[in-house]
Amino acid sequence: MKKTIALIEDEPDIVELISLHLTKAGYAVKAFLSGADFLAFLDKRTPELIILDLMLPDIDGLEICKLIRKRDVTAGIPIIMLTAKSEEMDKVLGLEIGADDYMTKPFSTKELIARVKALLRRHEPQRSLKKIEIGDMLTIDLGKYEVLVGGKRVELTPTEFKILELLSSKKGWVFSREQILDHLWGTEKAVIDRTVDVHIRHLREKIGEAAHLIKNIRGVGYKIEG
Ligand code: CA
Repeated sequence: MKKTIALIEDEPDIVELISLHLTKAGYAVKAFLSGADFLAFLDKRTPELIILDLMLPDIDGLEICKLIRKRDVTAGIPIIMLTAKSEEMDKVLGLEIGADDYMTKPFSTKELIARVKALLRRHEPQRSLKKIEIGDMLTIDLGKYEVLVGGKRVELTPTEFKILELLSSKKGWVFSREQILDHLWGTEKAVIDRTVDVHIRHLREKIGEAAHLIKNIRGVGYKIEG
């Protein structure tokens, strides 16, 4: 079964270009020129990944992102946001709202495909059945791709999960923002430090009563301990 990638972009040339490359890479592409069309689709189908343009004629990309994250069924779908250079500030906002990655136009389609693959790989359930316990409250089940706080399941975005996975791989070990970014995006350095803080803040909010287990070490980075 081919994985379905939803592409929401109002510029036909970009749609054509991205669709072509995604199809060549073996994905099924569903393209939408407006936010409304996409939301209608989302009511019936769940794509494996979403590529979302920020500036759409009808609905703001950020609004769409919020809607996706709000619904249980769609909350875990990886989202790559497309932004124009002039929308620099919106990138941080996009990540705050729950996008997993973003690309600034003009971008290389090769790079986009690489990120699509990386995000999908990260999102795939892992075969190992490894469970990590932090304190007596937080459980990270790497096999099921699940996080439990006090036995209750918490929905994280793929990026948040990946950060938690990294921090808990070495309890008490401090990871710098750069190391976290490396873990998230490989050698891609076109991301700003602040995005890590944004993801961590979200992660903390979501794990609620276990939030204190993630500690910020001033000027160095983050660690998890319990
Ligand atoms: Ca646009």
